[in-house]
Amino acid sequence: MRDTIGREITYLRISLTDLCNLRCVYCMPPEGVRKQEHRAILSFEEIEEIARAAVSMGVRKIRLTGGEPLVRRGMLSLCRGLREIPGVEELTLTTNGLLLPEMAEPLKAAGVDRINVSLDTLDPDKYRKITRIGSLDQVLAGIRAARDAGLTPLKLNCVLIGGFNDDEIPALAALTRDEPVEVRFIELMPIGHAVPFGPEAYLPCETVLERLPRLERAGQDGGVAERYRLPGAAGTIGLIRPLSRCFCRQCNRIRLTADGCLKPCLHSREELPLRGLHGEQLRAQLERAILHKPEQHAELSARSRSQAARDMNQIGG
Ligand code: SAM
Ligand code: SF4
Repeated sequence: MRDTIGREITYLRISLTDLCNLRCVYCMPPEGVRKQEHRAILSFEEIEEIARAAVSMGVRKIRLTGGEPLVRRGMLSLCRGLREIPGVEELTLTTNGLLLPEMAEPLKAAGVDRINVSLDTLDPDKYRKITRIGSLDQVLAGIRAARDAGLTPLKLNCVLIGGFNDDEIPALAALTRDEPVEVRFIELMPIGHAVPFGPEAYLPCETVLERLPRLERAGQDGGVAERYRLPGAAGTIGLIRPLSRCFCRQCNRIRLTADGCLKPCLHSREELPLRGLHGEQLRAQLERAILHKPEQHAELSARSRSQAARDMNQIGG
């Protein structure tokens, strides 16, 4: 289905939980978040019903996110259910990677096509600092497990944070030299726990182009990333610039929160509750959400915050 300015909505992001086994400083409070009552979050049956309705209206790609999607118990059975929906062309997920050593193969067997793993630094001390509790070795083992299980092409999400990881741009980009991975540099967005960060933290992706002058254009990725390549490299570099180059005109996504609200736009306050709706009523509410998708969100910058009413762990990126 198309929205009011002709964007075809083909991509549904589903947050499975607000909970996470990390506490990234830009995303979560140090103490984590309180576990919601089981009935406060959508059951797998409810998620599947909503996904089926969305697919019947033109969604072809589904991404599971969170919080950390791999910590939701039984999520493999949800993956199998989503995979069986006729019309789903791609089932993916975004994960911090910690649980991949044991879950990569089962995820592949459950029908997940490929995954994005978040990796902001290659330095074990800095990894601990940014995630507060994580171990870099564990993520690297998870990335290897994902590659071995065939959850490829792998994408590695790196949030650029001035003064924290800009010195690692060349080292992170070098991961693409021999392996067909995509390292995606993402501009830090002023949402939730990132809002109090100082202006120096909000680095534009232009910095990547300055630090890597030999990068060559490799086209768009069909989504929101601009794609580049180091000369002769097996993999690619993606730049995602929500602040410095607004991509609202290309936005083809809608988002489902773990408690059953549909967000037409990541950075808008607007949410439409879907819980309790079935059949035509559910489809009508989805249609309403798509038609309510704002043409563009308010400007984002180091000094103007997102208008989203939730933290990032409650939306899923
Ligand atoms: N737990 C999973 C993970 O970290 O990959 C999935 C959920 S996480 C909210 C999804 C993505 O959003 C991660 O790549 C994370 O780094 C990114 N993210 C979180 N807060 C952000 C912010 N303020 N600006 C830009 N990206 C952010
Ligand atoms: Fe957890 Fe992902 Fe948020 Fe980090 S970015 S705290 S891994 S949900």
